[in-house]
Amino acid sequence: MHCIEIVQGDITKLRVDAIVNAANSSLLGGGGVDGSIHRAAGPGLLAECRTLGGCSTGQAKITHGYNLLAPYVIHTVGPVWHGGDHDEDELLAECYTSSLALAVAHDLQSIAFPAISTGVYGFPFDRAARIALRTMADFLAQDDTLQRVIAVCYSSRDYAEYLAVQRELGQEPSA
Ligand code: ADP
Repeated sequence: MHCIEIVQGDITKLRVDAIVNAANSSLLGGGGVDGSIHRAAGPGLLAECRTLGGCSTGQAKITHGYNLLAPYVIHTVGPVWHGGDHDEDELLAECYTSSLALAVAHDLQSIAFPAISTGVYGFPFDRAARIALRTMADFLAQDDTLQRVIAVCYSSRDYAEYLAVQRELGQEPSA
């Protein structure tokens, strides 16, 4: 029985099999969580990312974690918010599904996600949280290998919002 954990903090500090990076399509680094992950991982991460040829919105690619505690980074490209009529919801859900599928394909058991697209990309936070939690739960309902799926919130406000959405969706609250 899996339970989605919601935690507040810095994703780069987590000891899980993979942390997910909210990357841009170049995969060559950026601001926000992407910048933090590259800084914490060290230059090896950028060197490996340069070999990947970028990534389309909604898709995911995996690299090693270098100096991170997490041995792997899964890079996914969230949609930029353009008002909600440009497949943003579907593309955001795809980010979660692609990342989870990649983790399973690499026999990983634990994965932590930031709130993809909710920073510079401007996705409304509560709407993104609802999509994230629903998509994770749908995936876990048909998967037996993942033991821990963590939604990481950077601010206390985001953390409170995620917990509220989790309750609203009737999902098991984390301990
Ligand atoms: P995007 O371009 O996909 O919007 P951002 O990095 O701008 O990506 O923001 C995505 C989310 O990641 C935001 O909710 C932001 O607060 C959060 N965030 C930024 N830094 C960290 C971090 N070190 N750990 C966890 N979450 C972070």
